[in-house]
Amino acid sequence: MVQIVKNATLVNGTTVDIVIENQRIVEASETTTIQGDVIVDAAGMYVSPGWIDLHTHAFPKYKPYCAMPDQIGYKTGVTTVVDAGSSGADDVDEFYRIAQEATTRVFAFLNISRIGLMRQDELSDLDNLSFAAIQQAVEEYPQFIVGLKARMSASVVCGNGIQPLSIAETFRHKLELPLMVHVGTAPPELNEVLSYMKKGDILTHCYHEKENNHIFREDGSVEPSLLAAIDRGVYLDVGHGSSSFSFGIAQKAKQQGVYFDSLGTDIYQNNQKNGPVYNMETMLSKFLALGYSLEEVIEAVTIKPAEILRKPDLGSLQPGSIADLTFFTVKESSKKLTDSFGTSIDGELLIKAEAVIIGGKYFELEKSD
Ligand SMILES: [Zn+2]
Repeated sequence: MVQIVKNATLVNGTTVDIVIENQRIVEASETTTIQGDVIVDAAGMYVSPGWIDLHTHAFPKYKPYCAMPDQIGYKTGVTTVVDAGSSGADDVDEFYRIAQEATTRVFAFLNISRIGLMRQDELSDLDNLSFAAIQQAVEEYPQFIVGLKARMSASVVCGNGIQPLSIAETFRHKLELPLMVHVGTAPPELNEVLSYMKKGDILTHCYHEKENNHIFREDGSVEPSLLAAIDRGVYLDVGHGSSSFSFGIAQKAKQQGVYFDSLGTDIYQNNQKNGPVYNMETMLSKFLALGYSLEEVIEAVTIKPAEILRKPDLGSLQPGSIADLTFFTVKESSKKLTDSFGTSIDGELLIKAEAVIIGGKYFELEKSD
């Protein structure tokens, strides 16, 4: 069956019809002559490839970092959620089952600690780092597991310093998977963490502002080891979360040309309901307010995370891509937008997700206000 999305406006301003067949995009064109069933007339809305949130907590088992995939996924305009280490090898079967039942696409950065986020100091006991357990999980779910996650901050590693990352580095080397590494309060220090990161790895919480362990040195210059990491192909993910995003750091980063690659939210139940994250549309509006263009913010939730995930048929409207789309509007408004440190800026352009298509199936979103 051929399906058509009529009159969809792309972020570059052109209006196209999008042709879908067998859950794949046939073409997105101003002049298509292909006929089919019109799924939606999208006049008045923007359309982009389905949004991908590279940093979420989509495994509902362990509080507080938990949520059901669809609650933080397609119901908010996000067609793909990537879990950042909520589950380790011990829970991967259960997580995979939950993921398969969701409408939203779900992928996982598997926690290097086999217990995942059962406890929040999951790297305090090095016996929980088992290569055999991770290897078995990756062999079982090669499509689902897209990398490994290491939370490298003082409260997680306790006395172990850099050791968990040095162990994780050997694991991923054998498995040829990227590492997503979270940074926060030292030890370990940012410099030391970055020294283990290679091309294709992801540094998340890149704009956090915690205790002298962020991306700027005391004299205000960018940490040279970060610039070197970016040069060798390490990606930066924002990973907003409840305590890891600072407008001040983000503004300074923009002034000095330290750009994010992906706009992961680090969303879970609590920061979705009570803020400061709320949802992806709020995240995107914050970056419009920081002076980034609509094209730039949408790229950071579509083509860029697809590249990071090594899933080139997501995040694109090219022929043959998976037919996931997000429909949204951009309205002039005035709203206070708040970071993780209580600082607010004025959002004058607000993005609002209106509908999604996942694999060719259309879902209109419930109105939240
Ligand atoms: Zn997280």
